[in-house]
Amino acid sequence: MKRITATEIATQYEYMDKVRALAGHERRYFVRTFGCQQNEADSEQIAGMCEHMGYLPAISPDDADLIIVNTCAVREHAELRALSVTGQYKKLKARKPELVICICGCMVTQDSRVSDIKRSYPYVDLLFGTGMLHRFPELLYEELTTRRRRFAVDDTDGCIAEGLPKKRESRSKAWVSVMYGCNNFCTYCVVPYVRGRERSRNPSDILDEVRGLVADGCREITLLGQNVNSYGRDLDDSCDFADLVSEIDQIDGDFIIRFMTSHPKDANRKLIDIMASSKKCARQFHLPLQSGSERVLSAMNRRYTPDEYLKLIEYMREVMPNIAISSDIIVGFPGESDDEFNETLELLSKIRFDMIFSFIYSPRVGTPAAKMENQIPEEIKSARMSRLLELQNQISYEKNLCEVGKVERVLLEGESRGDSNMLTGRADSNKLVHIPRDEVSERQIGEFVRVKITRAEPFALIGELEN
Ligand code: SAH
Ligand code: SF4
Repeated sequence: MKRITATEIATQYEYMDKVRALAGHERRYFVRTFGCQQNEADSEQIAGMCEHMGYLPAISPDDADLIIVNTCAVREHAELRALSVTGQYKKLKARKPELVICICGCMVTQDSRVSDIKRSYPYVDLLFGTGMLHRFPELLYEELTTRRRRFAVDDTDGCIAEGLPKKRESRSKAWVSVMYGCNNFCTYCVVPYVRGRERSRNPSDILDEVRGLVADGCREITLLGQNVNSYGRDLDDSCDFADLVSEIDQIDGDFIIRFMTSHPKDANRKLIDIMASSKKCARQFHLPLQSGSERVLSAMNRRYTPDEYLKLIEYMREVMPNIAISSDIIVGFPGESDDEFNETLELLSKIRFDMIFSFIYSPRVGTPAAKMENQIPEEIKSARMSRLLELQNQISYEKNLCEVGKVERVLLEGESRGDSNMLTGRADSNKLVHIPRDEVSERQIGEFVRVKITRAEPFALIGELEN
C-alpha cells in the first residue's frame, strides 16, 4: 500500500492551479454518482477538486463543460445504469465538442469495462480507476491541453491520499472514510478487486477531520469502511476501530456518530461495549447477514454461522435494549435451495430487523460465485425476493408501530421528497421521520429537534415537534 506523499499532493494542487489558469470563460462541472456512501464521499472529493480548478457547479449535465460519472460495480444493474447515463451524454458532446466527459469509480477499475468504454464510447475523454482519484487534476490537465483520450487505471493495491479538497454535500451530515479496500473476498463480491487491499487512515488524520467538521456545525459523522472492524490492523500503533470510536466520542460538541459497514466475523464485544457506554454513538447498528443458511454462508466465504450471528445480536440487545438493527440480504446465491432460502426467512422472523437492504444475486465477472454451477433462474430469484420483502415489510411496519408515542431526537435534513409541506430527518435509530413544515423554523434545518412520533408507516415515522 502506498501513502501518497505531501509532495505528490502538492503537485496535484499545482495541476489544479494550471487547469484554473486555462479557463478563458466561466466553466461548470456536473458529477453523477452511483453506488455506496464511499462513492458519494469520493464524489465530494471530485467536486472539491473541480471547484479548486475554477469550475462552478452546473444544475444539470446540459450546461456543464465537464461531466464526471462516478460508477459502481456491485451489481450488474448499477453498471448498466451508469453505461446508459453515459450514453445519454453523447448528444451533449455532439452539440458541444469542447465538453469533457470523464468516467471513474469501481466499474471502470475492471479491465473488461475499460476496453468496452474505449471501443464503444468514443466520446468519453477521460477514464480513471479508484486508485487514480487523487491524480484527477493531472489527468484532466493533460486531457485539456492535448485533447487526447486518457485512460488511467492503477494496477497496485490502492493508496491513501490525504489533504485533497472536498466539497461536502451537506453541512449537517458528513461521511468520513476511516479505511479503504477489502480483504474479505466474499465469493459473490467484486469490491476487493476494484477497491484494492484494506488500508487504514491514520487516527490523527481522522480525528482532525472530525474536529474540523464539528467546529463547522456538522451534527452527524458517519465513519465509512467496507469492514470497519478491521480498521487499524495495518497501522503501527495499536488503535483498533473501537478505540477510534471512543476517541471520536470524546470530541466536544453536539453530534452523533454512525459507522458502516461491520462484518459479523469481526464485530466484537469491545465495540458493542464502547457503543453502549458512549455519549455520541447512535443507537443503530448495520450488520449484513446475507443469508440464514450455514451452508450458503460458507459458500459465500462469510466465515460466521447463523448461530454466531444471532449471539452477536443477542449481546447487542442485552447491552443496548433500544438498538435498531439493519442488515443486507442476498437472495438467489448460486445453489441456494428452497429450504436454504426458508432458513433466511426463519432467521429474519426470529431476529426482527428494523430494516433490511435486499439484493438479488448478480454474477460479477472474476468472482468465484459467478463460476459456480447451479446459478438460480431469474424467475426464482425474483419470487424469493418478493417473499422476502413481504415478510420484512410487515416486520418493519410492526417495529415502526412500537415507536408511536415516543419522543425522538431527530436531525432535520430538509424538505421531504414528494411533499413540500413536510420536512424529513432521521432519528437516532436512522429511521426516516417526517414532520409538518409549518411547525419548524428554517433555522432548525440541519439541527437536532425533539419529535413526538404520532404515526407509523412501513418505511417512515410521522411526528410533531415537541417543545
Ligand atoms: N462491505 C460491506 C458492503 C458491500 S456491498 C459488507 O460486507 O457488508 C453492499 C451489499 O451489496 C452487500 O452487503 C451485499 O448484500 C450486496 N452485494 C454485494 N455483491 C453482490 C452481488 N454480486 N449480488 C447481489 N448483491 C451483492
Ligand atoms: Fe464485499 Fe465481503 Fe468485502 Fe463486504 S466484506 S466488500 S461483501 S468482499
